Amino acid sequence: MSERSCPVSGTAGGRCPVGTGSVRGSQLGPRGCSFSGFAQPGDVRTAFNIPNGVETEEWLRMRERKAINEILYSDVPSTKELNATSNIDALTANEQDLLAVALGAPARQVLLRAEEIGRQTGWRDGFLSAEFGFVPPDMDEAVSALATSPGRVWSDLCERMPGTVSRGRFREAAAALPVIEGTEDVIPDAALWPALVALGLLCSLYRYEEKHDGHEGVSVTSGVKSTHLGDWGDDVLEEVRGLPRSIGRPYCQISKRMGRPIPHLTFVDQSSYNVTVKDPKSKHPYVGRFDNTELRWPIFGDPTEKAFLKGCADTSASFQHGPDAIAACQEAVMKRDHEALLREMIRLKEILERMPNAFHTISPNPSSGENFVSGDEWVRWAKFSAPLSARAPASSGLQFPPYLLMDAFLGRKKYESFLGAEGLHLRAWAPSNLRAFIAAVEYHYSIPEFVAKSDDPRLHGVMDGIVEAYTGERGFMGVHRYKVFGLLEVAAKTGRTETNGNSGQSGVIVRPWEETHKQFSEAMKERLEPFRGKITSEPHEMRGTFEECRFRSRILTRQFVDNDPKRSIAKVTLDLQDTGITFQPGDRLAIMPLNSWEECAKVALALGVEEMLDSPVGLTGKWPRFADHLGSVARQPAPQLAVRDIIRRGHLAPLTQSLVLKVHSMLRASSNVVLQVLATNEWPVRGSLGDLLQAAVVDTPSHIWDDAFDLSSNLTWLTDLIEIEIPRTYSISNYPDELLPSTLDLTVSRAEYDLCDTFAGNSPSVKSGVSSGFLNPSLTSSEETLPIEEDILIGISRPVSFQLPLDGAAPCAYFAGGSGIAPFRSFWQARAGRAVGRNILYLGVQSREKFCCENELREMAQAGQMEIHTAFSRDSRGLVFDRRSGELMEKHTPPRYIDSLIVEQGDTVCDLVMSKKQGGLGGYLYICGSVSVFDSVMAGIRKAIYNHRSTTMESSEAILATAFAERRVMLDVFLTPKPLAVNLPTIPQSELALHTGHRPNTPVWIGVHGKVYDVTDFAPIHPGGTLIIRSNAGVDCSKTFDDLAHTGNPEVSSLLTRYFVGLLTPKPDYHGVEELSNLYDMWLGYLRTVVETLVAQQFQMSRFLGSAMGDPIDTDNWWFQNSVNGIDLINIKGIRSFYQYQSRLLQGGFSAMFGAKLQELVLKLSFSLANSSSDGASTRLPDVLGAVARAKTSENAVAVSRQVAQIGEFVRDSSGARFMERGIIAYASKSVELDISLLEDIRQEACYGIDAFESIADIDHANDSQTMTTLASFLMQLLERMAKRLEIFYSNLAQHSIVQPAIERNPARTRWHIVKQRIKDGSIFILASQNTVMGATAYVPEKAQHIVNFDTVLSHIHKTLAEAPPQEAPATSKPTLNSLHTQRTLEPKNGTSAFESHANGTALHNMSSFVDKNMRAIRRLSKLPPMPTNFDIMAQMHSTSRVGVTTPPSSRSSSRSPTRMMLSQGGGLNIRGMPMMHQSSPAMDSYANIMMPIPGMHTAQHPPTPPLDGAAAINSMMGKLNVRSRSTSRASSPGIMGNISHTPSMEGRSQSLHLRQTSHPFVPGHRARSSTSTSLRSFKLSQRGGQAQAIKVAPTF
Ligand SMILES: Cc1cc2nc3c(=O)[nH]c(=O)nc-3n(C[C@H](O)[C@H](O)[C@H](O)COP(=O)(O)OP(=O)(O)OC[C@H]3O[C@@H](n4cnc5c(N)ncnc54)[C@H](O)[C@@H]3O)c2cc1C
Repeated sequence: MSERSCPVSGTAGGRCPVGTGSVRGSQLGPRGCSFSGFAQPGDVRTAFNIPNGVETEEWLRMRERKAINEILYSDVPSTKELNATSNIDALTANEQDLLAVALGAPARQVLLRAEEIGRQTGWRDGFLSAEFGFVPPDMDEAVSALATSPGRVWSDLCERMPGTVSRGRFREAAAALPVIEGTEDVIPDAALWPALVALGLLCSLYRYEEKHDGHEGVSVTSGVKSTHLGDWGDDVLEEVRGLPRSIGRPYCQISKRMGRPIPHLTFVDQSSYNVTVKDPKSKHPYVGRFDNTELRWPIFGDPTEKAFLKGCADTSASFQHGPDAIAACQEAVMKRDHEALLREMIRLKEILERMPNAFHTISPNPSSGENFVSGDEWVRWAKFSAPLSARAPASSGLQFPPYLLMDAFLGRKKYESFLGAEGLHLRAWAPSNLRAFIAAVEYHYSIPEFVAKSDDPRLHGVMDGIVEAYTGERGFMGVHRYKVFGLLEVAAKTGRTETNGNSGQSGVIVRPWEETHKQFSEAMKERLEPFRGKITSEPHEMRGTFEECRFRSRILTRQFVDNDPKRSIAKVTLDLQDTGITFQPGDRLAIMPLNSWEECAKVALALGVEEMLDSPVGLTGKWPRFADHLGSVARQPAPQLAVRDIIRRGHLAPLTQSLVLKVHSMLRASSNVVLQVLATNEWPVRGSLGDLLQAAVVDTPSHIWDDAFDLSSNLTWLTDLIEIEIPRTYSISNYPDELLPSTLDLTVSRAEYDLCDTFAGNSPSVKSGVSSGFLNPSLTSSEETLPIEEDILIGISRPVSFQLPLDGAAPCAYFAGGSGIAPFRSFWQARAGRAVGRNILYLGVQSREKFCCENELREMAQAGQMEIHTAFSRDSRGLVFDRRSGELMEKHTPPRYIDSLIVEQGDTVCDLVMSKKQGGLGGYLYICGSVSVFDSVMAGIRKAIYNHRSTTMESSEAILATAFAERRVMLDVFLTPKPLAVNLPTIPQSELALHTGHRPNTPVWIGVHGKVYDVTDFAPIHPGGTLIIRSNAGVDCSKTFDDLAHTGNPEVSSLLTRYFVGLLTPKPDYHGVEELSNLYDMWLGYLRTVVETLVAQQFQMSRFLGSAMGDPIDTDNWWFQNSVNGIDLINIKGIRSFYQYQSRLLQGGFSAMFGAKLQELVLKLSFSLANSSSDGASTRLPDVLGAVARAKTSENAVAVSRQVAQIGEFVRDSSGARFMERGIIAYASKSVELDISLLEDIRQEACYGIDAFESIADIDHANDSQTMTTLASFLMQLLERMAKRLEIFYSNLAQHSIVQPAIERNPARTRWHIVKQRIKDGSIFILASQNTVMGATAYVPEKAQHIVNFDTVLSHIHKTLAEAPPQEAPATSKPTLNSLHTQRTLEPKNGTSAFESHANGTALHNMSSFVDKNMRAIRRLSKLPPMPTNFDIMAQMHSTSRVGVTTPPSSRSSSRSPTRMMLSQGGGLNIRGMPMMHQSSPAMDSYANIMMPIPGMHTAQHPPTPPLDGAAAINSMMGKLNVRSRSTSRASSPGIMGNISHTPSMEGRSQSLHLRQTSHPFVPGHRARSSTSTSLRSFKLSQRGGQAQAIKVAPTF
């Protein structure tokens, strides 16, 4: 067989369609050609479905010789069909079909043409070939062509990019290049692609460097940008204007030759076409894998950049054979060949299923070595990718051809979402080969349509699998959406300004990354709808629900897998016939269990519906969706659900709190048993609804029972009561060697637990878990023999990382405990006979009887395919493996756990763990079983390394960490939820806020749906990465949990039970006092922003601080570049990053904390105080906003800005940086240390505030206005203290300087350099313009006491609102295509991140609405002229985009201040000088009364005297107020506020818990009530606060 009968093209005797790479007459085609597969006979026969016994070559020739008639009329209709046909024309093929068959499938034709002319034209129409898909067939060929042409100057500079950027000399280097024309006579076609990529990178980098030249932030040169090095006339395209001619001109020329009317850099250019392949011959399973590529021309040279771009290239490359598979599908459709179509669709599905794995090479996990992509580094990435002009297409992931093609393949019709519109837009810019191929697929022989019309269930199943793999929640789009969410959240919080899909728009209610998440969801739904109908829920809401189970199956058999007579573990085989399901080793099955008939009977009999099992039921809750789902799966209309369905498929056990409460309320609290269950301290209760109803039916009056469960109605109460059950997950235990597997095995261990005492009474009873009891029922139960009539719903999912290595020679070790052996059976079946690498099993089970799959394993061991080591925990009849014979020999061994076994086998285990570089085998380690198995295995491995290879536990950890980083350790932990005790103390919000883990070795807590978890140990192994979980530290992240479908996901909730520390104190009940309730929300929102800012800053801070924060930093890449042999070169990256980071804080004035959000609080508190005071408009108020303004514009602040601006100067001109490098680093380190301290202090103040809110929850609401006044005064003080802290921050930082010759390497040279500089440029320390510093006008503070009235506050707010940027109208109509891209070029707003802009934007909006709503009262309180209140109206008035939230003006004018004059001159609001108010007001009285001096806090270096903590402050005013009745246990506490305790010292941040005891069994309120656990009846009566007497507290002042 030779290329004369190429099976790909079918051409006989012609030349190879792929090109010249083949060697004539040889067996192999050109490198990588499918034809080379012919060298592996097995593959060709499978690929072409060649029947057994038929000679391959002859068959292939015959296939090509088939006549058109034979192809089109292969299925001659039966007589019956003929008779039934009225229109006989339908029996004959139409002309279009005939022509197409004669010419070949359109998609194939485009492929062939592209292959034919591609090589001759330098692939300028785009890469497209059957073997390489959209990836270049040869990554190096074109680059060599460029290198041998004059264009080499461009590629040379590309190689120097990271170096010149690090030196700050890139622009200089680019401008110095000679001008080489990009015309045909200079640059050959063969070199076109790399020329385009090189020039694209150079031009974009030039733009980036120009925009970020150390003047974009705090600047001393008044907006003067560095000189243009690149002007070359006006007659140039907008995109290259300002760029040096040496790169701009050829870029235009080359772009034009490539069919790009406007030069632009695509995402594909940066990644897929910018990699080099390490081993081009490697074909498993595709060439351009992450591990087989290098980034050819890194731009900045960072690990994150490399990992990110390579990861994107890998994802696209994983689709390498996609175009061929799609063309083959089309061919099969044309020929109406079901079998061929099935084969090709399965191939396509498997290709798509690889994409998420490829995408996972982009890992947000710091322990993932070179795969790690840090979210905060994305900030720079977004800036680099900005398009060259507003009209050029922006770089976007949607430029990757697989997505555009798959949308066409699936016949997507709807492109209305933001991303849909963008995809269409980008398609128009795609290379012509790609567009032609897409058109060929989209407009001819629709595969989904053919499948839909066919009655072949296998095709339907596989098509469903394709849809899921591409755009399903567990498929590529789902995976992509989750990862982007995590990365974007971190990036937005750490300074990403660029928006995606309007996601940074301040008017948008949700936060930027949540908006993007929503946009992705819209696009996913558009893709899914043609197949699944109108989708009403969000994709993530389908996770962990029945919607993941889209196939129907039946249980075929249950078998013993060991010698355990109880069959605790069973092999359960399911029927997959005709489902179209395929799976890989390591995949999991999701299954919707059915309740046992016994449990159903208990419920049915108690409710009296045993005769009504088939009666229809009115559906509520999720049941209608479930009915629709059943219909969709069966491809029929939604069925009518009956009683039987509800009790068989609903959640009956265990008893959750909500389920018991429902029964309690339905029975009008009349059942003692129900009350008894409600008094339980641990939830869920170990029992079922059947148990509960059985018991309750006898102790509830029958008329109540009959009313509750009314049988004459349509039984909607049944679906109200019983919710649909959630699916369970099981590892798939087999890997059949079939194209479409006909069966699927599970290894199911029956979960058993003791029935709770309330139901069990004196006769203990063991219950089986719902699902495991259904799949593997107890042999003594009747379930074993009863037939299962209903279909079971199942679905396949693939874990993020639990797959066999690509390299069949790699050794694999399997660590299994009990049923943890489940997935390994699929592994060994897949590797048997195919892979040469060693397989070693370490198995831990209780006894010899429970040794699963013993016979199968022994056979494998004897065949040399498995090594087996066992540990029996309750059996001394041990087994020893003899490697030579492959036999397991009996040997007495004391009972032991798996960790001892691992230690015993330590030498081999260490070899497996250690990488090849470390001298080990670089084996793959898989751990599977329960959490305790996982813990035991890890302990064993650590110990083994310590015993055999290392001297300290630290070095053992390092060795293990390397294995994790190389992704060679993979886990599949079987998590089963555990009941939680609910009688734990509650944790206040302020306590949660303190656990942010931003300091080394401090704990990380998160709050989720009323519970607090300590996730310190979990963070490093969180699949979504450490940063995403840490970025939610200290706050309630329930929303994120919901968005990521973690809520309700049994796997997640099981895991969290391990980290549960207590219940979160709920929002206090202010008994309908809306003002208090709103204020609480606002304050909590402020605290949240502060905590999030603190945590996010830390991500960056640790890089500047280095070891000071405990995190190791890569100084080689950050502050120094290529530190070799002690020769360090300062890296501009560190300098620039610090400059941008600090500028952002200074320019925005820590805008998240001191911007609009703070002003909103001040406005509302001031309003409250003024409104409630008899002095009204004259009420004296602390001048918080003025204090912030004074701090931001103080001399110290100006001095700080100068330092930062000077650092920025080094970005543009790095020559001086080397003399001050240590000074810069020391300054940066000090600066961020002070930043963090400031943030911590602000957090502490905000915590005091929230404590105060919680304290007043007990105060009788009858006295609301006084409560409010007291609270508002206290909160105002806190805000004032925050402002003072800002002032202290500036004053502390102003003490530091980058000029520290003494610490430099060569102090003398440094001094000399400084002298020279000063002689040369004495103005370096003089601010040329006040305007550019701080982004606001400066003025000098006054010394007098800072007390103002409401008018002053209002004028601040007025000014802020007036100067706010106009609100961008939320996109209501379909965006125009170009407008979408134009958005990407928008300049960042005042350096504030999308996170900050959003937070402040929302606050601006709220302030505007507040003013609007309270206009009357405000008029009464204010002497200011009325202002337009509606924010939108005001925004329209200010069409110029003034950005950010400006510093508020001084509260009083100063005749002495020159800057004050500037304010008036600058057209700012005219502030009237406000006389000091000395008269007393109740508000101010309270304000004064709660101040308490603290010794040693009087200097300017300290904030104003701190008040007592919130609780104590409020407490001191209690005498005036009534106290709401409380329980006796509460009254016995040391004082009303005695349960809140904070150290009065500002610095002493208490880490200890001050937990409040609650004795209530199920209301997680932190206010304890009278003990209900002892008195069941009292429960009914004490729903709201009990009957305890009000307590009078003696006044303390
Ligand atoms: C990735 C993965 C793979 C798995 N693979 C396998 C496998 O191959 N083989 C295997 O046997 N098992 C496997 N499991 C475990 C399996 O999914 C089930 O958890 C197990 O079978 C028990 O389910 P059940 O319905 O029988 O028990 P359940 O009825 O769910 O009850 C089990 C226990 O959990 C408690 N419980 C139930 N619901 C809650 C709740 N909401 N809150 C607190 N506690 C609760 C019950 O009180 C009871 O003690 C795997 C789990 C995961 C996550």
